Amino acid sequence: MPTVIENGTVIAWNGEAHHVLDPGVVVFDGDEITFVGTDYDGPADQTIDATGRLVVPGFVNCHLHLTDTPFTKGHQEDVGSPRGPGNYQNYNALYKMLPGVRKASLPEDQYAGVQVALAELLLSGSTTIVELGYDFEIGGDGDIAITETIADLIGASGIRCYTGPRYRTRHYGADASGGVFYKDYPGDAAKKRFEACVRFCQDFNGRYGDRLRTLLAPGQIDTCDAQLLKDTRRFADELKVPIQIHAGQSPMEFSRVGETEGRTSIEYMMETGLLGPDFIIGHGQFMTGDGDVSSMAAHELEALTSSGTSVCHLPWVKARRGGVINSIQKYQDMGVRQCLGTDNYPLDMFHEMQCAAVVCKIVEKSSIAADCNFMFRMATVGGAEALGRPDLGRLAAGCKADIVFVRIDTPKAAPVYDPFKFMVLAASGDDVDRVIVGGETVVDKRDVKTIDVAAAVTRVNAASKGVWERLDI
Ligand SMILES: [Zn+2]
Repeated sequence: MPTVIENGTVIAWNGEAHHVLDPGVVVFDGDEITFVGTDYDGPADQTIDATGRLVVPGFVNCHLHLTDTPFTKGHQEDVGSPRGPGNYQNYNALYKMLPGVRKASLPEDQYAGVQVALAELLLSGSTTIVELGYDFEIGGDGDIAITETIADLIGASGIRCYTGPRYRTRHYGADASGGVFYKDYPGDAAKKRFEACVRFCQDFNGRYGDRLRTLLAPGQIDTCDAQLLKDTRRFADELKVPIQIHAGQSPMEFSRVGETEGRTSIEYMMETGLLGPDFIIGHGQFMTGDGDVSSMAAHELEALTSSGTSVCHLPWVKARRGGVINSIQKYQDMGVRQCLGTDNYPLDMFHEMQCAAVVCKIVEKSSIAADCNFMFRMATVGGAEALGRPDLGRLAAGCKADIVFVRIDTPKAAPVYDPFKFMVLAASGDDVDRVIVGGETVVDKRDVKTIDVAAAVTRVNAASKGVWERLDI
């Protein structure tokens, strides 16, 4: 039974690029878009008036952690390492707070956090998310039952998600003198954890009407040995699921890989077989010793581009800690596929696009670097390409009906000369007022239909007190 969205300004996909239809019409039937254009005279079971709205594809938010986010808010920045910020740029966050918060979080705390995070994501227009899931950091004994419960909460929220629990060979943390230590998991703990994660990927892939898919998520490039990465590639091929790893997060990580593996980070990923069109590098900031991606060796660049590997940028979390990607424009000019994610907070892709664009313009000292059309493409089609999903991130017949309405009847939107510039440089997630995922309206007039948001916020506020009391760092 077709639903017709009319009178809105539509960001349509012409097979190569997003373009504006004003006014435009979008028709969907079930979970699929059947028509995008200007003149529709077919059947209509239901009509939605989109006057005063941009009608845009939902964001494909390619990197975040549902369970960590709420309890790290306010704990990670404005503090650093006694050894100085240059080498340990993420010292307080990565090596100190995140392991500490995870250790202090009970499963119930994590569930409350997940629901709040999902509500924030839906309310700001992320219709597909990539969740690198729960990892009980210390000891490698993450309980897969927690991951399964979280997967069910994700499924019930109505969002589209790729999720996979993280696994590693070793964990890291902050040592007493302000440095970073690495410690292998004892016995066969890492192997057992990996096996449980693979089983989860097998069992949960395709659930919730195929809205929930799985991925393999080796934690970080400096916490996984070569055999674990090779096994990851083998199982990804067998299960036909994507892979995402954290890599390029700090200069310290880059030199650590050099010391322990005797090669660069890209060579390590290349030689363990990770690179491929189904592989996403989360962060991708320090892929060279000097943090400038144009210093990359020719064979490394060739490996990245010819394999179709994607880099997922998370500019805001880096900017908060004094880091920049140098640069998104350079990656683009080098022909590397790119997508965008929010990481921890806020979980708002409008905000992330804004940060990505402005940081890149500053780094390149250029007002034409990282233009807004390119940013919106990264946040939508870029993510869909990284996941091998030509049916996501765009409004065209045959694509999934993942549709977001953005208010343009507000003072800040008056007038809209260029919808892409408005969305990237002026709008925020608060301008979203309707979200449709797979043909189902999950947000209507900023009300999340699938989650009791007020109750979830109350629960997470209460849970945070316990987490912070238990925090031992
Ligand atoms: Zn992350």
